[in-house]
Amino acid sequence: MTPVIELDSVARTYRVGPVRVAALRAITLRVEPGEFVVITGPSGSGKSTLLNLLGLLDRADEGVYRLDGRDVAACGDDELTLLRNRKIGFVFQSAPMLARLTVRENVAVPLVYRGLAPRHARVQADQILDRLQLSALAGHRPAELSGGQQQRVAVARALVGRPRLILADEPTAALDATTADAVMGVVLEFARETNAALVMITHSPTDAARAHRRLTLDAGQLAEADAASGEPAANARTVVA
Ligand code: ADP
Repeated sequence: MTPVIELDSVARTYRVGPVRVAALRAITLRVEPGEFVVITGPSGSGKSTLLNLLGLLDRADEGVYRLDGRDVAACGDDELTLLRNRKIGFVFQSAPMLARLTVRENVAVPLVYRGLAPRHARVQADQILDRLQLSALAGHRPAELSGGQQQRVAVARALVGRPRLILADEPTAALDATTADAVMGVVLEFARETNAALVMITHSPTDAARAHRRLTLDAGQLAEADAASGEPAANARTVVA
């Protein structure tokens, strides 16, 4: 089976004036369909940079990224936008909704972008809202929702298109323990049903315990969290050009 994610020696370096910051260094990673991978790491270790690359919001400077078998370096920006819409569901911390649309319409947006007729898109939106116990809010505007409810709507919007890859950044951080558990349950069940890969950044030990694999990022280097620690990561990651 084609892996959903194949990263081969991927690097991303930011240039700020004369200073180069190696945010990601020689990242090699395979994530198979149906696999749930958790990534942890301290602030500044490269988690957001990695998620942005995986989500086709940014490009690598070195190495190869194949998403569902497709070498993304060969894609133009319009193609990347299409791939993103077809293949990826995002549950990011800042997932702004369109204020003038209802919750149902917001969840339907990714499907409408794909060209699905709005009434069909709304039916699918209602189905996923129901699974997340948000049916009662379907006709409301985002501003009428609590932070936790908005986060659950963001989850619904990420899943509605049955993505090959679900990317999540601290999806349960804003939720109380009971709701967090229920939302994780729906995401995991959905990923299993659709055989999607799930890559999640989280500080929650409860979420991490449910993953198939736990990885850590440290100074831009990725390692298996469960493996015995080897050489400490080199510190010389900021170099002056
Ligand atoms: P994390 O998400 O783990 O906190 P980031 O991916 O945001 O880490 O950052 C990794 C490193 O890259 C940090 O040293 C950060 O300062 C740097 N960095 C992130 N974004 C930029 C940027 N746009 N320009 C310059 N440096 C950046």
